[in-house]
Amino acid sequence: MEPVANYQCDVLIIGSGAAGLTTALQLADDLKVTVLSKGPLTEGSTFYAQGGIAAVFDENDSIESHIEDTLIAGAGLCDPEAVKFTTENARASLQWLIDAGVGFDQVQSKDDSPTYHAADATGKAVQTTLQKKALEHPNITILERYNAVDLITGSRIGKPAGCYGAYIWSRPKEQVETVAAGCVVLATGGASKVYQYTSNPDIASGDGIAMAWRAGCAVANMEFNQFHPTCLFHPNAQSFLLTEALRGEGALLKRPDGSRFMPDFHESAELAPRDVVARAIDYEMKRLGADSMYLDISHKPKEFIQHHFPTIMEKCLSLGIDISKEPMPVVPAAHYTCGGVKTDMNAATDLPNLYAVGEVACTGLHGANRMASNSLLECLVFARAAAKDILSKQSQRQALTHLPGWDESQVADSDEEVIIQHNWHELRLFMWDYVGIVRTTKRLERALHRIELLQREIHEYYSHFKVSNNLLELRNLVQVSELIVRSAMSRKESRGLHYTLDYPETLPETKPTVLSPKLITQA
Ligand SMILES: Cc1cc2nc3c(=O)[nH]c(=O)nc-3n(C[C@H](O)[C@H](O)[C@H](O)COP(=O)(O)OP(=O)(O)OC[C@H]3O[C@@H](n4cnc5c(N)ncnc54)[C@H](O)[C@@H]3O)c2cc1C
Repeated sequence: MEPVANYQCDVLIIGSGAAGLTTALQLADDLKVTVLSKGPLTEGSTFYAQGGIAAVFDENDSIESHIEDTLIAGAGLCDPEAVKFTTENARASLQWLIDAGVGFDQVQSKDDSPTYHAADATGKAVQTTLQKKALEHPNITILERYNAVDLITGSRIGKPAGCYGAYIWSRPKEQVETVAAGCVVLATGGASKVYQYTSNPDIASGDGIAMAWRAGCAVANMEFNQFHPTCLFHPNAQSFLLTEALRGEGALLKRPDGSRFMPDFHESAELAPRDVVARAIDYEMKRLGADSMYLDISHKPKEFIQHHFPTIMEKCLSLGIDISKEPMPVVPAAHYTCGGVKTDMNAATDLPNLYAVGEVACTGLHGANRMASNSLLECLVFARAAAKDILSKQSQRQALTHLPGWDESQVADSDEEVIIQHNWHELRLFMWDYVGIVRTTKRLERALHRIELLQREIHEYYSHFKVSNNLLELRNLVQVSELIVRSAMSRKESRGLHYTLDYPETLPETKPTVLSPKLITQA
């Protein structure tokens, strides 16, 4: 007989951001829910979202304009059903958030699509409000600082196809434990940490995408990574975003010698679309071999800067940069993972009893490029849809009580942490250089070759040594990198966020890139 699982619940939710906590709160009046967070409960992209949430609330605004803006951003690759479903459910989802206690104190209409803000810290308001409610709910158990390692699938334990729980690594106890669950929801966020520079917090290592792939699920549109054009480049300012409003207020992009370059790339110069700006910075950095470019607003009066950008001014001053006198060093940074685990309108994956919600998923909403305020919205809408589907099928499920334990009999403590560290840096650097903002077939081939070498090394390491956070994340990042590269190689055009010098044109017809582990195994 297998041992009793360490934890048992109706639903295991892996991730405690907007997607995970919304799903948990939607279910908890009826079911026993366990929520995992890899680091501190707050740490995820949700907390850092500064902008807003798109939704049509006012009767004077039409859902049509929200649909249209989303489709334009998605560059012909959005799934119209997902766009319709999301926009139609936006109002009810936002209302739920307001009822939960998030105070939206500012409503702003921009380019026809209204966005809802809680000052300049929407994400913080969402995260802290939902977190408080989850902590208070008697049916929600929160396991903080637990890494999900792998899903427990039917094929792994000799049961019918489906998901039965997960192996989780307790960071405090440094041991792997089991969770038995009637169903599992992946809400692990994105994979931007695959790149050397990212605006995302540390947890964004694509764990959910890699776990789902290993469990046999299809992934879609992994070639589309959104890059924010301007992150502060400073060793002590990891992930500090410099808002695009700076350029809107007149800040200029400059080379290290002080000359401007945006007029060479676009007629709107600094006000060109985000992707054009990111590509131009990347191009100049690679051409000049420079570590960064510069964003300069020092020609504006100090009071103006102080009034409009107090947080940025303060942050830069703390690092010794007085932005009223000198430019800020900037690099583009990986910001959002448009692709992910392929799901339907119930957020269900193609493995029974496994759902994926939020940035980890690819619902089809974003297509080839994300409209900025649609991502928190997608978390809310699809969390609600997943919860509804889970509740409607609950009577058909029964969680197992016993699961095979984690076998550590063949592994030892790692004595060469330096190898993991080195592989980490190597992977993120070549992903940045070869698979970043501007791609070529040759660069992608080089990246794939290196990924295959790293995969062999990491597999060997994983089989012989006890797990650690760095090893688990590296294993997932390498897997996600492979999926990004393979997807990018299969797209023979430039579209939305995928830009390759070998195929600079956009083809008249296209479809999403879907990779399935089953097909690759058969090939
Ligand atoms: C700086 C910044 C600004 C942004 N601004 C906006 C904005 O204005 N509007 C907008 O709509 N979107 C914005 N976004 C995007 C948006 O914030 C995210 O897409 C969204 O918050 C993702 O939510 P999530 O719940 O899917 O993931 P996250 O909030 O990232 O949460 C992921 C959770 O999964 C957990 N986790 C991950 N791996 C594991 C594992 N192996 N085991 C256990 N737990 C795990 C983490 O601990 C975390 O709790 C912004 C993002 C950033 C980084």
